[in-house]
Amino acid sequence: MIDRVLAEVDRAAGEIVEFTQDLVRIPTINPPGEAYEACARFIGERLAQFEFDVEYIAALDRPEHTRSHPRINVIGLRSGTQPRPLVHLNGHFDVVPAGDGWTVDPFGGVVRGGRIYGRGACDMKAGIATAVYAAEAIRRAGVRLNGCVEISGTVDEESGGFAGVAFLCEQKRIASARTDYVIIPEPLNVDRVCIGHRGVYWFEVTTHGRVAHGSMPFLSVSAIEHMTRIVDTFYRELVPRLGERLTDVPVVPELARHPTLNINAIEGGQRVDGIQTPCVADRCRAIFDRRFLLEEGFEQTREEIGGLLERVAATSPDMFYDLRDLLIVHPVLTPEESPLIGAVDRSIEHVLGYPATLVASPGTYDHKHVDRIAGVHDCVAYGPGVLDLAHQPDEWCSIDDLIKATKVLALTLLTLAG
Ligand SMILES: [Zn+2]
Repeated sequence: MIDRVLAEVDRAAGEIVEFTQDLVRIPTINPPGEAYEACARFIGERLAQFEFDVEYIAALDRPEHTRSHPRINVIGLRSGTQPRPLVHLNGHFDVVPAGDGWTVDPFGGVVRGGRIYGRGACDMKAGIATAVYAAEAIRRAGVRLNGCVEISGTVDEESGGFAGVAFLCEQKRIASARTDYVIIPEPLNVDRVCIGHRGVYWFEVTTHGRVAHGSMPFLSVSAIEHMTRIVDTFYRELVPRLGERLTDVPVVPELARHPTLNINAIEGGQRVDGIQTPCVADRCRAIFDRRFLLEEGFEQTREEIGGLLERVAATSPDMFYDLRDLLIVHPVLTPEESPLIGAVDRSIEHVLGYPATLVASPGTYDHKHVDRIAGVHDCVAYGPGVLDLAHQPDEWCSIDDLIKATKVLALTLLTLAG
């Protein structure tokens, strides 16, 4: 049976490549969320052809769902002989803007030298193709699964996934009451299984000064000067401390096993492009991106930031500041004993001939919604494509990876739902 299914994947290779090319040619650029409906329909029609019951779900109560840019998700369900287990394969079909530096048409779906090129080729339209054709190869091999296979194409992962996977979870379309396993074919490399990600804490710090004539700064308080003290303390004290902490979670690349701090934006005083007047800055704002480890947790992370700010403020009596939370994403980690990890792992070994590596992602993806909102903890990311190529110019996915990953997912479905 396994050999029959794998042979069907090989036989469908041309179709899988073409389907990926066609997906790349639909420019689902986010922001603002172009061509979502066309892409959802295109995936939905293919799923319907492959005997899925297809449903389109618009994120009606989300503010980003507008007439000009509707947020339409698609779900297909192919029932087995029993309602459970249900394996859900999810792929986001939005892509980030192409940006500069391309040598091929980013939306041309060009195939050259065994690679499919284009924005989203790797992140993650190839992944959607693997999901669809993994299920189809099983059908073409004449295998009837006991369990159910569900495939969704969703919007907005690149901007947080609130009208996409989070919405499907809130609507209980992905929920622990009906869904057993979720696999997200993000481009984590064909031989790696991704079991989670670090946490995210975005916060905004505003320092308040007092405006005065720029020729007499000693009569005033500079908000920018206070902000530089904060930034200096973060780099001198916090960053070295973060460098000493190391997670047990196998985050890649290696340096992302430490927590990190980045300044997203800083803004203070007069507009740099504007007409300048001699004024001391009365306000400065900065936005920080702190990635934290499972072992640190959010509470400790926030307390540490708050404590440092208080210490800086205590050194100068005229320093006033506000701290505002902008985004909190808790870390996720698939339970070690999850049968899903073992199933993907064994399928990779069968197809590639060597064991898989377990990794975790430095950044977050839709896993967080599946874990937190749907309460489905048996969730991993596994898909074709090289992670480093995501969001780059001349993004590509190798056809060899695409076919191998389709085989791995097909075997995984057989194991979990067979
Ligand atoms: Zn992605």
